[in-house]
Order: sequence, then C-alpha cells, then structure tokens
Amino acid sequence: MTDNCPNCPLQDVEPMAEHDRGTQVSHLYRCAGCGHVWSTNRDLNAYGEAA
Ligand SMILES: [Zn+2]
Repeated sequence: MTDNCPNCPLQDVEPMAEHDRGTQVSHLYRCAGCGHVWSTNRDLNAYGEAA
C-alpha cells in the first residue's frame, strides 16, 4: 500500500517495511525524493482485510 510523502510532493511511495500488529498494520516509508522517513498505522478492519 503506497503513501504520499508528507514532506514533498512525491506520491505513491512504496513501503520499505511492513509490520502486522493484530488488527493493525504498520508501514515504514522512505521518500526517494527528499529522504524523509515516516510510518503509518492502519486498522485492517477499516479496509476490510481482517482475516
Ligand atoms: Zn519526500
């Protein structure tokens, strides 16, 4: 699942790491444009992907 860089206009950044935490999944991103690193936590239930 890609994300948009919060620090520059680059979009569709591919995650470089993914961690599952029960019903939540954390993605770590590094922007190829500006080098900014950020992470997101998503609730899988909100995306209808819960097993
Ligand atoms: Zn960026």
